[in-house]
Amino acid sequence: MPAKIIDGKKIAEKILEKAKKDVRTLKEKGITPKLVVIQVGDDPASSIYVQKKHDKCLELGMASEIKKFGKKITYTEFLFEIEKLNKDDSVHGILIQLPLPEHLSHKQVFETIDVAKDVDGLNPANHGKNLLGKECFRPATPIGIMRILDEIGVKLEGKNAVVIGRSNIVGKPIAIMLLNAGCTVTICHSKTRNLKEHTLKADILISAAGKPKLVKENMVKKGAIVIDVGTTKMKNGKLYGDVDFEKVRKKASWITPVPGGVGPMTIASVVENTVKACREITNA
Ligand code: NAP
Repeated sequence: MPAKIIDGKKIAEKILEKAKKDVRTLKEKGITPKLVVIQVGDDPASSIYVQKKHDKCLELGMASEIKKFGKKITYTEFLFEIEKLNKDDSVHGILIQLPLPEHLSHKQVFETIDVAKDVDGLNPANHGKNLLGKECFRPATPIGIMRILDEIGVKLEGKNAVVIGRSNIVGKPIAIMLLNAGCTVTICHSKTRNLKEHTLKADILISAAGKPKLVKENMVKKGAIVIDVGTTKMKNGKLYGDVDFEKVRKKASWITPVPGGVGPMTIASVVENTVKACREITNA
């Protein structure tokens, strides 16, 4: 029997419905949750993601702002802009859209974001708390993945989870979250030898490499749960995941599509985190 397709949009709707109610309650108290997304440069894929978050916030009655900077913005200027948002009481969530240009990405940019407003969980303090399994803001995509796994009713304890990708925003945090939930976790990356040898052991396979059709049918154990985080925009304008969907579907028990799987969950988690930040900052 082919895998059941996980409807990320439908799960996200439930989260957004709850967020909408929370926004209404906050607004009755005179508080409007506000997200600011910072984008440096004009990468078309990033612009789409930024716009989607912005539109969703507005749709729910929140405030939202996109701050775009040219790639030539200096490190000092960039930190100054973040500091301004930290001090702005009307702002509750700050999210820096990745990727950042080289001169900004290896410095203390993420440490500068106020921990209380770090709704994509990229401040090292939040990374550390995630590692320790403590209450904190976690990156939106891993939160969305965990929600998907919960929604399909999988018992995580004792499962073999294999994560392809070791980025700070997806691979590492989701691996930690799965580990803390009792999975035995393997993290693979571009230097991993014989990827298939690892993926074949996965009860839960999460691919976040950004390489279309990296995960083929012969790399997946029968009955595995396959979560495809990858999104690559091809020349034909179509969005592709990392997984050879049609073929892998025949072997897996559950599978996320691209688009319509992890993507909507990421947006819903950003919204949810911003509402949470607003409630905590304002004590509302
Ligand atoms: P990233 O920073 O580029 O990381 C990609 C990771 O994949 C790296 O760790 C890399 O290894 C690894 N990798 C690349 N090619 C590989 C291969 N052939 N075999 C094994 N590992 C390989 O990307 P990211 O920010 O984590 O995002 C990953 C993908 O998810 C992208 O397509 C991105 O667009 C997508 N994404 C989607 C959402 C969503 O909401 N749907 C959210 C975030 C990201 P090295 O570390 O060794 O280089």
